[in-house]
Amino acid sequence: MPILYRDLVRANIHPLNRFNDATQAEVDAWVPDRLPLFEVYMRMAEELAKRSTCRRLSVGTVITDGLLENVLAIGYNGNVRGFPNDCDSPTPGQCGCIHSEMNALVKAPGQVRDKVAFVTASPCVMCAKLMVQANVGYLFYRTSYRSDEGLQVLQEARVVAVRYDRWADAWRGEARESLG
Ligand SMILES: [Zn+2]
Ligand SMILES: [Zn+2]
Repeated sequence: MPILYRDLVRANIHPLNRFNDATQAEVDAWVPDRLPLFEVYMRMAEELAKRSTCRRLSVGTVITDGLLENVLAIGYNGNVRGFPNDCDSPTPGQCGCIHSEMNALVKAPGQVRDKVAFVTASPCVMCAKLMVQANVGYLFYRTSYRSDEGLQVLQEARVVAVRYDRWADAWRGEARESLG
């Protein structure tokens, strides 16, 4: 039996995105008729990124449970609570901001397994390790950030990482854009 990927993104092997009992005809004819939930959360992460106070980069994060039903935590990068809304230093690599993923993970309940993370940029090595440690099973990211070492960490730890930009421009504004 062919697998139908509901959002047409084959890299997205999350159980909610796979329909395993489809016929080939169903797979061929399938067109999503509304915004995939994965894209909704990605856009939430993009909105959160707009609140970043880091001068070097704006990143937003949403962490949900495994069924994408509950938002467990949100984050964006910036300095510590109570500190000036600015980087500690303009020197690259020493801005001192807490990364978006870290800000979300410290608030997400540790006992929840198979968390799903939506982040606007691919993670650094340390954030990738923290995601592994925090039981993130799937990561969706919009753009690749500098090195892919973080993604390599996730791969080693068998966390599924999906670059998610297939629907970035769809269902925006008042006009209902055509799909496909
Ligand atoms: Zn910064
Ligand atoms: Zn990071």
